[in-house]
Amino acid sequence: MHVLVCEDDELIASGIVAGLTAQGLTVEHVGTASKAKAMLKAAVFDVMVLDLGLPDEDGLKLLQQLRQQGFELPVLVLTARDSVTDRVDGLQAGADDYLLKPFDLRELAARLHTLLRRVAGRSVNLIEHGQLSYDPSSRITLLAGQPVDLSRREQALLQALLHNRGRVLSAEQLKDSIYGFGDELESNALNVHIHHLRSKLGKGIVETVRGLGYRLGTADGAEQP
Ligand code: CA
Repeated sequence: MHVLVCEDDELIASGIVAGLTAQGLTVEHVGTASKAKAMLKAAVFDVMVLDLGLPDEDGLKLLQQLRQQGFELPVLVLTARDSVTDRVDGLQAGADDYLLKPFDLRELAARLHTLLRRVAGRSVNLIEHGQLSYDPSSRITLLAGQPVDLSRREQALLQALLHNRGRVLSAEQLKDSIYGFGDELESNALNVHIHHLRSKLGKGIVETVRGLGYRLGTADGAEQP
């Protein structure tokens, strides 16, 4: 799960980052609203933790803007403001959940997992393949019902394979679908992502078609090392 934490208090932020990382989540941290916007444009996140009192902009205002721009990721708001009006304002701005400061880090992690399950439950575009299910909108991958943490590149690779079931894709085609950002590409990058995908989802998930490329294999989840 890829989490964006927007919190300007360094002490609180480092606690959150450490706590969520220990729970197996991938966490990016920013301290201002403008950096949060830039980060959301640069990468795909599953959920956002948003402090309301930010130095450059009110958190609620940021949230409102993001919703207007069509960002659908679930947002958990952190606030020291414990008034009903603030909660109502927050929900109207598009918050999915609230946590009042100070809070327990395990509570925060539990809430984030609940949020993601809720989002996964309401999505309709679920792609199923054997023991594997992948939700393109929330980017949640489940193998035999268990969440699997895939990097953005691994998700893109998996999505390309799932969308082309039965077809052989060349290495070039796969690279194009993984790297849409004009990134510098190391020659073995694709192999590395395929290797990771196999180690996370079972060896059979990516089939090598000698001389031609790759195609979606089986997802029985039984071959994990
Ligand atoms: Ca703050």
